[in-house]
Amino acid sequence: MKEIVPPPPPLVRNHQQAIQALFQQSVVPSYARFEIAFSHGAGSYLYDVNGTRYLDFGGGIAVCCLGHANPDITDALAKQSQKLVHVSNLYYHEPQGRLAAQLVSQVAPGKVFFCNSGAEANEGLFKLARMSGHDEGRFEILTTTNSFHGRTLAAIAATGQEKVKKGFEPMVTGFRHVAYNQLQAIREAISPATIAILIEGSQGEGGVTPATPEYLLGLRHLCDEKRLLLMIDGVQCGHFRTGCFQSYQRILEGAPDAQSFIPDAIAMAKSLGGGFPIGAFWVREKYADLLGPGAHGTTFGGTPLGCAVALRILEVIRHENLADNARRLGAWLGSQLHRLATTYPQIVNSARGLGLMLGLELAEKEDLPAFAASDKASSIQFANRLHQAGLLAIPAGPQVIRLLPPLNLTPTQAEEGIGKIERVVKSLA
Ligand code: PLP
Repeated sequence: MKEIVPPPPPLVRNHQQAIQALFQQSVVPSYARFEIAFSHGAGSYLYDVNGTRYLDFGGGIAVCCLGHANPDITDALAKQSQKLVHVSNLYYHEPQGRLAAQLVSQVAPGKVFFCNSGAEANEGLFKLARMSGHDEGRFEILTTTNSFHGRTLAAIAATGQEKVKKGFEPMVTGFRHVAYNQLQAIREAISPATIAILIEGSQGEGGVTPATPEYLLGLRHLCDEKRLLLMIDGVQCGHFRTGCFQSYQRILEGAPDAQSFIPDAIAMAKSLGGGFPIGAFWVREKYADLLGPGAHGTTFGGTPLGCAVALRILEVIRHENLADNARRLGAWLGSQLHRLATTYPQIVNSARGLGLMLGLELAEKEDLPAFAASDKASSIQFANRLHQAGLLAIPAGPQVIRLLPPLNLTPTQAEEGIGKIERVVKSLA
């Protein structure tokens, strides 16, 4: 009898070279991957196929907010998958309604749209902004240089980094970039066609740079004055990573006008699902019904399974006071990174960030003799050395190493991580 479905490829039994060969043969080579293949994880640790243990300060790029193989996530996945995984957005179900209500309660009156990724959440914001300005002929969205908003065609047009656009021209029109944290520059960039401003609360891929309180408050006033939507990309810096649900809430703590600061829309993804893919955007009450039936959609947005996981993660974050943990351990880690910058100024330029979103800026490559011979960026070479020391961290641009550990990191693990980073810095000194 003719075989219709070919047999699956043979098992490679977690053999690293064989796994890499499968990728080389059959996976589109659009990522520059490190030479590590993982087999499993537990809490803040990951294990590669050769049995080496790594302390994970990368968190799958700010995704694994409860670490790996978290029993609450496993339980939520198992229980919900026994009831209902997917029904489409043609129907109602309780988990999506409850998750939307919970996200609204974290921000301000408004509504939530569910999708599957950060880029898709930002796409939703672009469409929201365009819909809001449509009848007046306003469509332009101002974003910032060094920003990152995802890899769809519109998201690369929105991203303020040339490297993501290369080869994909012509760009989707209607985006312009202005320097980050510079209010006057953005004021001067507003044109009669401008409808919105989109910023990251703390730039992630661009090198870990939080917005200043003055910038945020100034942007709110500017947007009110010019009738623009103020939209925040909280995909990486959101979900309690900085110690508050959204980074702007943390940045504005104690600022005299903090209560009056409400954005018009916020993009979310990454830690929202702790590794299960789910994205969302929140939109302020005033604009909440702009996208009416038929205006926007996605098959998988807000599945019962994704929403049940996201609800459980929020419950764990609340019960285990993980926002406080992010704040406390973030402050300690930050102080240690500053110490490294002071102790080894020839290796480390500076440390910055908020909560558990931290960056260590290395010295210029020509000042790091150990890195000079390779054509790889210093951040990548530094990450490789961290890997050898048993720590995962993520390059952000050529000179910055990002730390995005889980929100339930322990003080002992924080010390372990700093010990490994210091060892690598010392080896370069
Ligand atoms: N926005 C920001 C700030 C991000 O950091 C990222 C991803 O790193 C995205 C959007 C895109 O998210 P995704 O990769 O889930 O599409």
